[in-house]
Amino acid sequence: MLSNSLVELDRAHWVHPVASYRGHEKAGVRVLRSAKGATVTDSAGHQMVDGFAGLWCVNAGYGQESIVEAAAAQMRELPYATGYFGLGSEPAIRLAAALAERAPGDLNHVFFTLGGSDAVDSTVRFIRYYQQARGKPEKDQFISVEQGYHGSSTVGAGLTALPAFHAGFGVPFDWQHKIPSHYAYRNPVGGDAGAIIAASLDALRSKVEALGGPERVAAFYCEPIQGSGGVLVPPPGWLKAMREACRAMDILFVADEVITGFGRTGPLFMCEEEDIVPDLMTTAKGLTSGYVPMGAVFLSDAVYGTIADSAGAAAIGHGYTYSAHPVSAAVGLEVLRLYEGGLLENGRRAGARLMAGLEALRDHPLVGDVRGRGMLAAVELVTDKARKTPLPATAEPARRIFDRAWDNGLIIRAFANGVIGYAPPLCCTEAEIDAIVERTRRTLDQTLADPDVR
Ligand code: PMP
Repeated sequence: MLSNSLVELDRAHWVHPVASYRGHEKAGVRVLRSAKGATVTDSAGHQMVDGFAGLWCVNAGYGQESIVEAAAAQMRELPYATGYFGLGSEPAIRLAAALAERAPGDLNHVFFTLGGSDAVDSTVRFIRYYQQARGKPEKDQFISVEQGYHGSSTVGAGLTALPAFHAGFGVPFDWQHKIPSHYAYRNPVGGDAGAIIAASLDALRSKVEALGGPERVAAFYCEPIQGSGGVLVPPPGWLKAMREACRAMDILFVADEVITGFGRTGPLFMCEEEDIVPDLMTTAKGLTSGYVPMGAVFLSDAVYGTIADSAGAAAIGHGYTYSAHPVSAAVGLEVLRLYEGGLLENGRRAGARLMAGLEALRDHPLVGDVRGRGMLAAVELVTDKARKTPLPATAEPARRIFDRAWDNGLIIRAFANGVIGYAPPLCCTEAEIDAIVERTRRTLDQTLADPDVR
């Protein structure tokens, strides 16, 4: 007999994503019941500002009626349409066109997925196909960046460079390689932008040489800001320098904008602000603001054209049952309308306030670093500022900080190394931003007073 308690049912049956299964069983699930704007309510009626927009995805905020209406209307009219057999639906076509129109440069071709991991997987398939198509099958090595995150599929997890996604899973594959991150706060070359860029360029070129030269390397992947690695913001010019280095070596440059896309850092795409045009770009999360699942891969004219020409009349065997799901596409169109109808603007204002508020926390004894852009930020905690000593792992800082913030009415992302991540909905009011900062300070004060953390 199953218990009626949700906690018991969860403990017995739901395998949670990215969790310590035994730790979760012990702690028990926290059930979220409802949400409106930037405020989430749990099953006990406890209200919190969601400083992380779910999982950096609910950019439009909760309870946006027009999104609900768009989904319901599409479900009534046509709840499913495949893109196979030469078929399609109006929202999918309109969304592809709207995205292509707004994407940087010649990223004019859009392949829809269900989320970010399969978007990354799709790029690997397209890139291998492209390199074969242009007669360079030996260009089959892939490079990404330490601390990077590119999903949790088998192929994506191998491009990801976070230990928990590798250990025990048999990845990365031998064609997946890494170079060090730009991580300014802890970079061995120091915090100087020029030195960091030079070191990254050097690392990329050395890695390419070690792999047998540019004729062996298919693509380089990076996030415009490394998200799951702890919100690591590259110095100004880093992205452009890496993009140009890849172009010079005939290596495809893939920008993974799954987090940074759709207003998270200000504009629709961060590449736009950095004045770069990648060869491929991945997005998800903010594309539908998390209301329904969807991701999108953008292909340049050259990549798409080469693949298309090479296949001729033959089918290119890559696709999903739910590629370009019409309900997701209808939601995507409405979310895009909201972004351009004021949400991006509000996000920019709120982001400036958030960054200023978090910067003011630098005076706190536990705060070693504050970084971010727009509505994407992090505070890195240390026990000794001069030595940059991380919080002791034995104190399980992630759990402690998350729990305290929760009790203080704030949801944040607490990383295992004592980094606190922020990605609030773009609809946040000034009062909500101030509450995020104020509740963070209270959480830090309580953490400072905790003898286990020092
Ligand atoms: N790439 C990046 C940069 C991400 O942050 C994520 C998810 N956090 C993914 C890919 C994978 O997306 P998903 O979880 O939707 O599969």
